[in-house]
Amino acid sequence: MVENRPWRWIVIHHSATTTGGAAAFDKMHRAKGWDELGYDFVIGNGTDTADGQIEVGPRWTKQKIGAHAKTPDNRFNEFGIGICLVGNFDVERPTPAQIKSLTRLCAYLMKTYRITPDRLLGHKDTKPTECPGVYMNVALIRRQAGLLAGIDSVNETGQAAAGTELLTDAPRQ
Ligand SMILES: [Zn+2]
Repeated sequence: MVENRPWRWIVIHHSATTTGGAAAFDKMHRAKGWDELGYDFVIGNGTDTADGQIEVGPRWTKQKIGAHAKTPDNRFNEFGIGICLVGNFDVERPTPAQIKSLTRLCAYLMKTYRITPDRLLGHKDTKPTECPGVYMNVALIRRQAGLLAGIDSVNETGQAAAGTELLTDAPRQ
């Protein structure tokens, strides 16, 4: 049993590559000198993994601090769940399957950790960056995941998830 971190944000990224998956990004991140894959989850686009497939990264299993959203106080790494969608959303749209998986994953996480929609962010909401690209509509995800989770921005105490019905391949805890 690993104790859950007190997650407070969800931070959405794109990979800025046309192909990839958790294994490829793990290699890239290690090559930069990081300990391992910086994100908690990776959502495939049908290249290295199936379209819309959610890969659970090793950090999530260990509930380890993230390496995906560095800021001076590091709060988005310490308390932000990093989700990366494979693709370069500066030039292409996420696939419908990726959006569906992202929405369900975010709803599950929001419900489980009582994260309100206003704390579901794009990487660029945390620092000056283009990530997750012009074609990633974070506001839409915020609204749809909030509805699915049954949490709105004024309800700070949404019920914790009773089960994992929102997500078939739920992270093990
Ligand atoms: Zn990013």
